[in-house]
Amino acid sequence: MDPRAELIEHLRFFGELGIAGVSRDPRWRARAAEPAPGLEGVAPAAVAETLEGIRADLGECTRCKLHGAGRRQIVFGVGNPRADLVFVGEAPGADEDVQGIPFVGRAGQLLTRIIESIGLTRDQVYIANVIKCRPPGNRNPEPDEVGSCEPFLARQVGSIRPKVIVALGALAARSLLRTPTPISHLRGRVYTYGSARVVPTFHPAFLLRSPDRKRDVWEDMKKVRAMLAGDTDEQGQ
Ligand code: URA
Repeated sequence: MDPRAELIEHLRFFGELGIAGVSRDPRWRARAAEPAPGLEGVAPAAVAETLEGIRADLGECTRCKLHGAGRRQIVFGVGNPRADLVFVGEAPGADEDVQGIPFVGRAGQLLTRIIESIGLTRDQVYIANVIKCRPPGNRNPEPDEVGSCEPFLARQVGSIRPKVIVALGALAARSLLRTPTPISHLRGRVYTYGSARVVPTFHPAFLLRSPDRKRDVWEDMKKVRAMLAGDTDEQGQ
């Protein structure tokens, strides 16, 4: 794409995210820092495995009841196995169940634009879910299903060793951070998961229902971009 068309496309998306304009004033990027919560997630595996090895271990998984609840296939994860940035969602929906790829439906298309808003592509990041099989009727995953599946997410993160993890929505944030705190209270601060920093933000499916919260996600993504560039403090400021 020629640079002018690319810029127009970028600004159009910023508008869609609820950003009225841009400024070169550094104060525009600043936002009030919240105190570090000191909340530690579970540590990823000490010895890095390959994603292929983890996928092979998962096999045609029957560890929880979702294997007999109409799933078409396991949706393991997609992207760069050496990504600096990992996105974690909740569970596959109908489109993901058909294609075997996370975030390919309407929420996925919005996630793609969110990734592109910080100058990255889906191929450069890694995208996975806490739950690898579609819950019937897209119901919320149940605690035993989360318990069976989340160790595989921990191993994926341990293999990739990203700098930053974006937790999309409550389930991802609670699973990674081991806290029952609501996502609306968690977001706006930066947490740790092993050596990675965790930025909780709203799930794209929630943004489809509540587009006024896109601005919050944009604030979070600016923080992520700065953390990846290495020019932030512990809170991503
Ligand atoms: N929602 C998710 O949490 N994950 C997907 O893969 C798709 C929708």
